[in-house]
Amino acid sequence: MNCLDCARDHQLQRPAVAACSECGAGVCEDHLIVRPHHLIRSSVLFTQAPVDPPTRRVDCRTCAVGWQVADGYAGSRDLAAGTVADRG
Ligand SMILES: [Zn+2]
Ligand SMILES: [Zn+2]
Repeated sequence: MNCLDCARDHQLQRPAVAACSECGAGVCEDHLIVRPHHLIRSSVLFTQAPVDPPTRRVDCRTCAVGWQVADGYAGSRDLAAGTVADRG
């Protein structure tokens, strides 16, 4: 698999080192964004708490920007991450 952004923006065939966890696009070392991702533990009292240590998410730049906006709306990176976990 090659990097989608390199192919689209620069007409380069560059091997991908990861796949975006959101859109599935191949991303090279220059186009990937690695960020911590806290899994959410739910209790019987319907409270939710982030689990440490955080796991890892790899996103392309397009999806990373979307997540930054979503985190702003949710007010918390952990809350936004929990939404993703709920989607399965
Ligand atoms: Zn690239
Ligand atoms: Zn993506």
